[in-house]
Amino acid sequence: MNEVRAAAIYARISSDVEGSGLGVERQLEDCRKLAKSRGWTVAEEYRDDGISAYSGTRRPAYQRMLADLADGQRDAVIVYHPDRLTRRPSELEDFLKVIDKAGVRQVHFVAMPTDVMTGDGLLLLRITAAVAAHESDTKSRRVRRKVEQNAKLGKPHGGRRAFGYAKDGLAVNEDEAAVIRQLATRFLAGESLRSLAVWLEDQGVKTVVGNQWRTPTLRGMLASPRIAGLRQHQGNVLGKAQWSAIITEDEHRRIVALMQQKARSGKRAPRSYLLSGLLRCGKCNATLYSARRAGTVRRYVCQSGPDHGGCGGIYITAEPVELLIRDAVLIRLERGKVADAMAGWAARDEQIAAVAEQLADDQAQLEELVAAYAAKQIPMREWLLARAPIEQRIKAAEQRMMSLSGNEALRGLPSNGAALRGSWDGLNLDRQAAIVRAVLDHAVIAPGVLGARAVDPNRVEPVWRL
Ligand SMILES: [Zn+2]
Repeated sequence: MNEVRAAAIYARISSDVEGSGLGVERQLEDCRKLAKSRGWTVAEEYRDDGISAYSGTRRPAYQRMLADLADGQRDAVIVYHPDRLTRRPSELEDFLKVIDKAGVRQVHFVAMPTDVMTGDGLLLLRITAAVAAHESDTKSRRVRRKVEQNAKLGKPHGGRRAFGYAKDGLAVNEDEAAVIRQLATRFLAGESLRSLAVWLEDQGVKTVVGNQWRTPTLRGMLASPRIAGLRQHQGNVLGKAQWSAIITEDEHRRIVALMQQKARSGKRAPRSYLLSGLLRCGKCNATLYSARRAGTVRRYVCQSGPDHGGCGGIYITAEPVELLIRDAVLIRLERGKVADAMAGWAARDEQIAAVAEQLADDQAQLEELVAAYAAKQIPMREWLLARAPIEQRIKAAEQRMMSLSGNEALRGLPSNGAALRGSWDGLNLDRQAAIVRAVLDHAVIAPGVLGARAVDPNRVEPVWRL
């Protein structure tokens, strides 16, 4: 036997522990014993932790060992079992090429006493590698299939408890469900996620892991098909889930559409002015900007300059004009404008119902397709092909639905004018602004009289939507 001066020991533990399934330490220990029993000097121990050879994930230590072998730095290799060294037959062939070229004749496996460098040993090694590859392949397919199957059956994915549901993922947590319903209603009424997160904090409502709600978490929770009783898998809604819905599918679609619309129109700073974007300059028709100079009162200003393009010739003190518009809005709502709006909704609701019906049809078609795919009546490729146009129709319908629900802000308001007036101050600025926007298209602000102290109501000319 040739003297071995620089043996390499290789050990790997994978996340899909099976087969020899030993910890790296135990593998190393056995490999060291084998080296010692043969009187070999170990030059280096190469270890890859938590990496599956089959998944094709890069194994840095393994690559380093191959490079050292190719360089002639190592003259023997000891591994616990062939399935630790490689799990793909092609990888084994690459390994064999490297050691053949480097002239390394000593490759030993603790769990395989045969000399693998002889003809029969090599055959056995190849068979072992092929069997390991097959096992690993079926195992990952088995895991994948289980996840897909759960999804198709509408079963929970498992894992961490979802807000609104018990640990089993099926039973509804009534306290949290009430919070979700309120969040959905208020979001659809125009309140921002940021403002809702503040409300949750005020109420002492925490996430399932006990953290404070932040807008991204809140967005994810509110947009999730789960709370509408829908099962999602890899970003696609597969159909009805086995758990109960907390909000309706219609609400879910409107929430998602509204979020997409907000994402398209860009992020905006938290509102601090009721009439931002609603006032126009009576001289040049530019939109007035809210501005506050240090030590002065809040104002809306026509701003000149490259970013704004106004004439710079007008400003108006914020508070009086806000009170004025607020009163005008409330009066319009009191004088039956809400009733008029309701009548408008009836027509819109009919259209929405028609869109919703089409959505339901498309959803049903999707579910049939999923069932056919689940029953192996159609292959995956066909399923994906058939699904695409339906999903496009659903997307278009959702956009249509969004444009039809423009007056959402007024829904749920007290129809009695005095009651609305009484509750106005209790509404936060987002909600108030949403109501104003539902009623008022914009208001034109005429130039003021030089030196006038109070705001002249005649300067404000509202253009109403309702
Ligand atoms: Zn102007």
